[in-house]
Amino acid sequence: QTTNEALLARRKAVLPTGLGIAFPIFAERAKNSEIWDVEGNRYIDFIGGISVLNTGHSHPKITQRVHEQVDKFTHTAAQIVSYESYVDLAEKLCEKAPISGPTKALFLTTGAEAVENCIKIARAKTRRPGIISFVGGWHGRTMMCMSLTGKVLPYKKNFGPMPGPVFHALFPAEELNITEAQALHSLDMIFQADIDPSEVAAMIIEPIQGEGGFHQVTPSFAKALREICDEHGIVLIFDEVQCGFARTGTLFAGEQLGVEPDLMTTAKSLAGGYPVSAVIGRADIMDAPQVGGLGGTYSGSPIALAAALAVIEVIEEENLLERSVVIGDTIAEFLKGLNLSSIGHIRYKGAMLAFDLVDSEGKPDAAATANLKQKSFEQGLLLASCGMYGNAIRVMVPLTVEDEILQEGLDIIGGILTA
Ligand code: PMP
Repeated sequence: QTTNEALLARRKAVLPTGLGIAFPIFAERAKNSEIWDVEGNRYIDFIGGISVLNTGHSHPKITQRVHEQVDKFTHTAAQIVSYESYVDLAEKLCEKAPISGPTKALFLTTGAEAVENCIKIARAKTRRPGIISFVGGWHGRTMMCMSLTGKVLPYKKNFGPMPGPVFHALFPAEELNITEAQALHSLDMIFQADIDPSEVAAMIIEPIQGEGGFHQVTPSFAKALREICDEHGIVLIFDEVQCGFARTGTLFAGEQLGVEPDLMTTAKSLAGGYPVSAVIGRADIMDAPQVGGLGGTYSGSPIALAAALAVIEVIEEENLLERSVVIGDTIAEFLKGLNLSSIGHIRYKGAMLAFDLVDSEGKPDAAATANLKQKSFEQGLLLASCGMYGNAIRVMVPLTVEDEILQEGLDIIGGILTA
């Protein structure tokens, strides 16, 4: 019988320290919103593979489509021999993305690659070098994505120099004490001090910051950014890797902002656990790179595309957009009902919900957050944190979660916080 402890010891010997591990357990199997480890312990999963499993672990429909695809073929390289699912999914995403007019889509494998390709495409279109991103934003671990990311520890330290030119503007959020006026002022300062807007290719922002703390872009800030981009010919990119694909009560979070991006990314829950990402954008921008300038060996794996097409069906058949709103409201009501001064700001759109833990003076309490995660783990609930100060708990439970299991998880949180 394998034990977690034995596997941890083996892991430690052969895996680098930089690859962290949140919980000292090894998965044996998982179903919808539950995971069992190699010792048979059961955990409720409020992390969903970091927001990848909006349709749950091993959804039967998705699993079946993957099996069918594996029996037909597993890889041809889409740039060598293409397949119908590539066109099918591109058509669906172009139709559903909140971008009007002719739209095109490109498939890659990871979220970081989707972001990288947005930058390549924006530069090819504008023939400009500069990129603006935001403090607290998170875009991936490749060199350019790391440069775009607005958080030094643990993502950037010792890994430089970073590709540039990249400049970080402030991200406005009430809970960060940054107003929209201050954020716009910081952008203006970049244009005064660092780079002329005529040399900026793109501005990239998450409609809701993921790793940064689930802070939301408001419609008014999105409108201001859209106007600045229009004025200076800058490509506006929405990074929906984490907030997209039904998490927020709409398929894409940007749908709720009232302005259209020029390019956008999606990944994570797009294929319910199979690695595929996409760039969707205005056709005239998407077509800027030369033939052969885009792609990748695994770009749009047929296995992942079969899964993604099934994910779209599951979202529709199981009304997961409505379900997302119900889950968010349920969690928020529960947390408010606890009536605890240790729970600070609660923010959510659909089921993309985070809450801050604060000390008696209302200051960020990272220790209490770590304690809640540890105690929850001991009671069989997996929780993740986020935010600049590490004091926010973010809920990424599958949207397919059973009501009883959702409640069981919430009761664990409630029990620990009230104790
Ligand atoms: N962008 C955002 C907003 C993300 O949350 C992430 C992943 N956390 C990425 C990009 C990178 O995705 P991946 O890890 O698949 O490269």
